[in-house]
Amino acid sequence: MKSVMNFVDGQFLAGKGEEKYDVFNPAFGERIASVREARREEVDRAVDIAVDAQTRWQRVPISDKIKILFKLENLMWNNLEQIAEVTTIEHGKTFEESKGDVVRAIQNVESAAASSYHIMGRNNRQIANGIDEELIRVPLGVFAVISPFNFPVMIPFWFFPYAVTLGNTVIIKPSEKTPMSMEFVMKLVKDAGYPDGVIQLVNGGREAVDYILDNKKIAGVSFVGSTPVAEYVYKKCTSSRKRVQCGASAKNFVLVMPDADLKVNIGNIIGSFYGNAGERCLAGSVLVTLPDNHDKVLKLFTKVASTLKLGYGMDKSTDMGPLIRRDHLQRVEGYIETAVEEGGKVILDGRKIRPKRYPNGFFLGPTVVDEVTEDMKVMNEEIFGPVASVYTANSFEEALQVINSSKYGNASSIYTTSGKFAKEFSEGVSAGNIGINVGVAAPIAFYPFAGMKDSFFGDLHPQGGEDSTFFFTERKVIITRW
Ligand code: NAD
Repeated sequence: MKSVMNFVDGQFLAGKGEEKYDVFNPAFGERIASVREARREEVDRAVDIAVDAQTRWQRVPISDKIKILFKLENLMWNNLEQIAEVTTIEHGKTFEESKGDVVRAIQNVESAAASSYHIMGRNNRQIANGIDEELIRVPLGVFAVISPFNFPVMIPFWFFPYAVTLGNTVIIKPSEKTPMSMEFVMKLVKDAGYPDGVIQLVNGGREAVDYILDNKKIAGVSFVGSTPVAEYVYKKCTSSRKRVQCGASAKNFVLVMPDADLKVNIGNIIGSFYGNAGERCLAGSVLVTLPDNHDKVLKLFTKVASTLKLGYGMDKSTDMGPLIRRDHLQRVEGYIETAVEEGGKVILDGRKIRPKRYPNGFFLGPTVVDEVTEDMKVMNEEIFGPVASVYTANSFEEALQVINSSKYGNASSIYTTSGKFAKEFSEGVSAGNIGINVGVAAPIAFYPFAGMKDSFFGDLHPQGGEDSTFFFTERKVIITRW
């Protein structure tokens, strides 16, 4: 059985801690690797190495840093399929989805190449008699990146290319459920020519996270995961004066107006709910219709959803892969049961769909629950699976009010041909990423990933040149009397 390696000081090292977690191929329900929980002394050693490496790395001219970044970019393109295959094996998403995960990662490498522009300071000559004043941006030291299971490649890349190009060093702690993709990427980091200690990887789960949060030499933490853990990380970091940004859980609403062009958009709407098997923080979760179009939308949505083919992600004919773990599958099935108990009507039941070729996989078919009301669990909690809850609002205004009553605010989409509705929706909905005829409102790398409310803790968002530059640097003002 393979044991996932750490990457510390330019070397792949076996962890010393307890073998605590299993990595599965979720399509086969098979254990394929194990992960050791990092010990405190292993995390502390990696941090000491990062502190030391940063003293030299910060002095490397930014143009030289960007040359290494370009090498990494090239290596990522050249190894796109190999990385994507590792992701499909350990996560379950389709090969095409995994390739998308890698492409989004590479876009952040490309976006970080603009750091030499973003890091520029400002100055005023003769701000007072004989006095000049100048603002410069300086790196802070060592940052940690703690990532979730669902985008094992893209999410660490939301942060580390910016952090290192701006002169910091980083320690990445991937999800213990999908750690092999970033283990693979570390080979490319080494081949690109990053000096030892600039980018490191330590593995583990909650204990490794605590060792990171406890380490006083770490200047800041970029976290993405569920809301309870995000809140915990945020509070711990702010109380110990670490910089922190935490992307968190989501409950995304997709409003389909009667004037929407359903024919053109149905594939896009379906992709929002069932892409990545619904394990996506931008996934559609509640399908909102009006009385005028409810029956028409539901009929077409259910018809198309029922054609999706479940299977192993490396099989070309697969449209939707499995969920990440058996216990998560049971949790999602539990939501469907509760919805029925609370008065929902199951129109398409994914629990009855099991791909014959993969009897031990963690599969759940596309599910549609109609007649969902505001107080129901499926309306309020993140499910993180292929379940569409259908809510019928009496008006556009009521739809907005229902969407805004959610405690989450990651993303929300509207399908309409009306400029009026599109504008009112984008201005009136309290979510950070808005889609107009776009079901997965995923900002391109040079825009921030803008979650709100319980979907984000912090001020500066992941990715995007400006937010990243502010997060990963400190401003200094220099006043000179000539
Ligand atoms: P998770 O919160 O279980 O884990 C995230 C990270 O935190 C992992 O590295 C994990 O090892 C660590 N962790 C888990 N429990 C911990 C604990 N008790 N103490 C300290 N660390 C702990 O999340 P997940 O299941 O891996 O990912 C799914 C969640 O992530 C969903 O809620 C999803 O919406 C969210 N997500 C959010 C975004 C976003 O940008 N807002 C993006 C992707 C995923």
